[in-house]
Amino acid sequence: MTRQQMIDRDLRRRGIRDPRVLAAMAAVARDAFLPAELTEFAYEDRPLPIALGQTISQPYIVALMAQALRLDPGDRVLEIGTGSGYAAAVLAELAREVYTVERHAELAAAARHALAAQGYVRVEVRHGDGTLGWAEHAPFDAIVVAAGGPEVPPALLEQLAVGGRLVMPVGPPRLQELVRVTRHADDEYVREDLGQVVFVPLIGAQGWAEREGESPPPRPTILPRRNPGPLRAHAPGSRPHAVARLLAECAEPLTGIEDAALGALLERVGDARVVLLGEATHGTSEFYRLRTRLTQELILRRGFTAVAVEADWPDAAAVDRYVRALPPRPRRWAPFARFPTWMWRNRETQALVEWLRVYNLEHAPPGRRVRFAGLDLYSLFTSAHEVVRYLDRVDPEAAAAARERYGCLTPWQADPAAYGRAARRGRMRLCEREVVATLRELLARRVAYAAEDGDDFVDATQNARVVAGAEAYYRTMYYGATASWNLRDQHMFDTLETLLAHVRAEQGGEARIVVWEHNSHVGDAAATELGVRGEHNVGHLARARHGAGAYLIGFGTDRGVVAAAHDWDAPMERMRVRPAHPESYERLFHDAGHPAALLPLREPARAAVRDELLAPRLERAIGVVYRPDRELESHYFQAVLPAQFDEYVWFDETTAVEPLPVPGAELPPEHPFAAAP
Ligand code: SAH
Repeated sequence: MTRQQMIDRDLRRRGIRDPRVLAAMAAVARDAFLPAELTEFAYEDRPLPIALGQTISQPYIVALMAQALRLDPGDRVLEIGTGSGYAAAVLAELAREVYTVERHAELAAAARHALAAQGYVRVEVRHGDGTLGWAEHAPFDAIVVAAGGPEVPPALLEQLAVGGRLVMPVGPPRLQELVRVTRHADDEYVREDLGQVVFVPLIGAQGWAEREGESPPPRPTILPRRNPGPLRAHAPGSRPHAVARLLAECAEPLTGIEDAALGALLERVGDARVVLLGEATHGTSEFYRLRTRLTQELILRRGFTAVAVEADWPDAAAVDRYVRALPPRPRRWAPFARFPTWMWRNRETQALVEWLRVYNLEHAPPGRRVRFAGLDLYSLFTSAHEVVRYLDRVDPEAAAAARERYGCLTPWQADPAAYGRAARRGRMRLCEREVVATLRELLARRVAYAAEDGDDFVDATQNARVVAGAEAYYRTMYYGATASWNLRDQHMFDTLETLLAHVRAEQGGEARIVVWEHNSHVGDAAATELGVRGEHNVGHLARARHGAGAYLIGFGTDRGVVAAAHDWDAPMERMRVRPAHPESYERLFHDAGHPAALLPLREPARAAVRDELLAPRLERAIGVVYRPDRELESHYFQAVLPAQFDEYVWFDETTAVEPLPVPGAELPPEHPFAAAP
């Protein structure tokens, strides 16, 4: 995309009207402010990673902020958060003098250099804490803060001239409100809200404390680029270029879900202890069916005895009792009856579950029945309820104590996320101590309780862990997406490790578990844009712990129909998946021409294609929500596929999972998928 296309498509159409701002956006070469390997994305309207886990803002946002500042050619402007220096250059096109402050010395130096190289002599860059402003040059006609803080720093309000405008994102790190503050008189400030935005955190004396907002230091492995140079864009239907041709040769075509090529995959898995099976969407039938086939093979031929999925523990536990033919526990709720129900309450999962039950009843060697477990932590209240009910049975006194402690969370039952918001504002008592104490006491009575029923004890302690994990998750959510994402993936990974230990203790020998989660949890985050932001995930942690003993398999598709919702909590729809972006890995696979294929990425024989694929590209991720209208911003991220996965499974065109009806609340609990009568 060119600069002019960006201006027409992303700026003008989205409401940037100020002709001076449009001219400034046209005048500045954004590519001059990007690391060399990202310059081909310079005029995509999205933020991009620069050094030290920071980002260069999306052009639209830079233009929006510049427009909101209402700059006059004679103005003196202060910018906080120089980053790459790009926005400073845009501001310099619009005002007389620009002063910009950056807290990372390295970024300040690089920006100074880039600005000078582009001829911006009226911009001064300083390394320091911008929340304190730049008193020597105050007052300023305009102040813009390019990072999100908890509030507008008082020092900046102080340094704003009367008549001056300040524009800044305010709010928790995950989502902020863009505000404009105008100083009408010495002590009269008027504040307007301009819309929601997401920025990196403002860290400093009058911003967030370092440990609250900032991500851990980025991993260095990110976005290696062997072959610098522009990505070739290919029009749909054009002949596959060299990489796609190489891919076509190196991939193993898959003729169907029963294919013999799966035998070769099994060989490559070798004696891995954990095999992680991904998915590019939460609603694609082919992904579920192939994962079922692989899971069966791993159970039958590789000694796997547990399937752990991206689902809530109590829901999966109900299925687990069914597949291991244990008597169902009385319960008043149906598993997988909450949004997104189709993710597990579907025909494809049912086929897996029925197969597991038959296998366990008729074929499993004694003591080696396969379990089914949920890794996730979204079941705060169901899990708390399960803990109390367990204690009611084994230790009524402890049950009373747990009831009282968990009562701390009751006000948030309808909306646990509100707990985090309230916690952030410091208006309430936190429940951290309560949930941790309950878990600790359960664990302390391991010997006494486990004597009653080992399985029930394992279930109850895991539920207590989920409550503790969920409390921390919701509390952290409002400090940052990275922190809460990491907490959730750490919880899922810890649950996996607990399961491994449990299976080992119960069955002896090496425990082996197959994991079903979205690609974003399964693929090593260090090889993606998320890793640049400091996020880790299950795949990354599994590699760190098990090395080659963790085998990570990604799944992808070009187009078709997917089961997803337009918004969180909205009804499931069967939505058309748009053909993949021209600069995505998916497009390369599509161009390679196999309707379905496997691409092993560890094997030396595939080094050539692996090397080609090391150039970062876009990759698509569709979760339970799909927004085809905003696909590029919402569903694509940058990745280095061969570093992310050990193997990739491709289905060119895919279909939606078949959802099963959601039962009412009062159903017989025997069958996990019982439908409403
Ligand atoms: N305007 C930039 C984007 C900036 S991203 C561009 O066009 O590229 C936000 C930047 O704010 C990051 O580089 C971050 O390091 C910086 N930052 C965060 N807190 C800061 C503070 N207190 N003082 C100065 N810079 C800060």
